[in-house]
Amino acid sequence: MNLPPSSTGFAFSKGCLLLDDTPLVEIAPQLPSTPCFIYSQAELIQRAEVWRESFPPPHSVYVAVKANPNPHLLSMLCNLGLGATTVSAGELRFALRAGFPPSRLFLHGNGKHPEDVRAALEAGALLNVDSAFDLRLIRRLAGELSRPARVLLRINPSGVDGLHPYLATSGEHTKFGLTPREFKELLGDLSPSGPLEVVGLHLHLGSSLTDLAPYQSALSFALEALDAVRHPFPQANLINLGGGLAVDYQRRGAPLPGSRELAKLLIPPAEGAGVRLMVEPGRHIFAPAGAILTRVLGLKYRGGRVLVVVDASMNINPRPALYGAHHAILPLEAHPERERAVCDVVGPICEEADFLARGVEITLPREGEILCVLDCGAYCMSMASRYNLRPLPPEYLWDGSDLRLIRRPEPPEEMLALFPPPLSH
Ligand code: PLP
Repeated sequence: MNLPPSSTGFAFSKGCLLLDDTPLVEIAPQLPSTPCFIYSQAELIQRAEVWRESFPPPHSVYVAVKANPNPHLLSMLCNLGLGATTVSAGELRFALRAGFPPSRLFLHGNGKHPEDVRAALEAGALLNVDSAFDLRLIRRLAGELSRPARVLLRINPSGVDGLHPYLATSGEHTKFGLTPREFKELLGDLSPSGPLEVVGLHLHLGSSLTDLAPYQSALSFALEALDAVRHPFPQANLINLGGGLAVDYQRRGAPLPGSRELAKLLIPPAEGAGVRLMVEPGRHIFAPAGAILTRVLGLKYRGGRVLVVVDASMNINPRPALYGAHHAILPLEAHPERERAVCDVVGPICEEADFLARGVEITLPREGEILCVLDCGAYCMSMASRYNLRPLPPEYLWDGSDLRLIRRPEPPEEMLALFPPPLSH
């Protein structure tokens, strides 16, 4: 485990897990319950600022709301000048609530509900067009609402090798975007005098990319496609290359490329072609800024392994069960005197798939101690469910000196309140 001391985020130093240089053992007693999410404001801001500086105007950075829709976190990113990329009317509503202006909102999706499109048109957001039926829907609603629609056509470059199949969103078999033939046909069906203005192209290669070469090929592919768009729409000059950069979930100090390297590679060819770039990172901004704090309920011994049973589970971090994802799990304080063992860290959900880590060597914790599951700022709370009727947990923001509740714990009665009376007894 390579967690160098740093002034922001989660770092292990001198036997203590720190959050922005404050030992988490000092912060944890202020938390009324576990499991809960805790975010570093400084880390989140710092990560977003690097993105914004890497892609200065006329280029733009839109944060992918699907990674973490907490309006408190989103509003901090909005204040830094980022835009918001959304996938539903619900996410649009959260982004608007967080303060994003219409000029910095984007809605995309391969199966948009009429309500999604209506919300985007009413908000004045940019939309993507993912298929011929999507185009028909957007065109119809733009007409009904008498709203012009500014759109990006979603194209589909070659797939990226080595991604988990659920995280690959380009190539022949993806459900997203237009094949080259569909793109050509759809373009033939669009005219600059209609209610739709094509301002550019959209693509997203997939998620957790550790190599920048696919972005470079995707940009070449998109520049060629943009030439075709510029025949009917000479003003089209925007290419949205999606998100997708990986983070170091293993926490071994892997030298992964970041936004600066990406910008250095992509901005010169884009500017050479008179193109503005848009990027929409989610994971890379949020993941390392958040963690789950969970309490050890007890230990079990199984065939040479120790099962560490904790109170967090797949319902608040489904990533290990869904993608075989790895998250580092650390104690708040080192205990070099204790035994280390190969452990599975499992939760209380009634599923064998409910694990947070499998086969990891850790120092054996004691009952009642708190563990920290790192890199849970993205695709954990946003994918959380109430499976087994476990209410969604609270979220806290650490601002360097104080903890702020940014999502209250969900009272169990609220779940029951969704079912209309009368309940027969
Ligand atoms: N843009 C699009 C179109 C996406 O589908 C996604 C995620 O799947 C993202 C951006 C964000 O990706 P990531 O969180 O990997 O940066």
